[in-house]
Amino acid sequence: MRYLVLSDIHSNLEALEEALRFKDYDEILVLGDLVGYGANPNECVERVRALQPRAVIRGNHDKVACGIDSGDFFVSHALVAAIWTREQLSDDNIDYLRNLVAGPLAIDEYVTIAHGAPGDEDAYILSPQEAENHFWQFTTPICLIGHTHVAQLYAMNKMKLDVAAASDGLQLELVLDGVHRYMLNPGSVGQPRDGDARGAFMVLDTTKRIAEYHRFVYDIATAQTKIRNAGMPEFLAQRLAQGR
Ligand code: ZN
Repeated sequence: MRYLVLSDIHSNLEALEEALRFKDYDEILVLGDLVGYGANPNECVERVRALQPRAVIRGNHDKVACGIDSGDFFVSHALVAAIWTREQLSDDNIDYLRNLVAGPLAIDEYVTIAHGAPGDEDAYILSPQEAENHFWQFTTPICLIGHTHVAQLYAMNKMKLDVAAASDGLQLELVLDGVHRYMLNPGSVGQPRDGDARGAFMVLDTTKRIAEYHRFVYDIATAQTKIRNAGMPEFLAQRLAQGR
């Protein structure tokens, strides 16, 4: 099975459309945060729905946008965007977001998906220590995670943890022997934060046993103009060009 793995789309339609030019996959997995920050929440939700992914789980921004969470804990620019998003979303799309399941969600014998940490959908895995603490919270050899917007890989062999930033074009060979285990973050489709402004996605091929990290150039200027025209914080437009 070749899974196209999309995470943290964040209402960025220009980035989503560019990512979807990639066609070499069997099924789609979406790791949450379809909305928030960008200016096309309805369009992005509808685009994802039409793709009929194998699985979609919710992210923290999805929860605030559809009213499951208040967003009191969000920083101000995120909350402004979440409130704007909630006002824009159609009732139908709000319903769709409300009914998204929480991770972790096991997909098949190899793969679990989660938005944040495997054991806590709202927790960020930013360090090897945090990664190590979460390896026991999923049972498959691979857990795909999002939330940090940073393409990353954590590989565990017995008690030894390897950590690496995942660069464009990296093809990680997966050892599926019951001993090696992986936590893989594809990076963000619509708001990368690893200093590379290009959008990110992953292809996880469980047959060939390879995780491919992809980056793609998209029309950042148009996405920025839409954010400014929507009256959202300028920072949200600028950060797209910086990949921060
Ligand atoms: Zn996110």
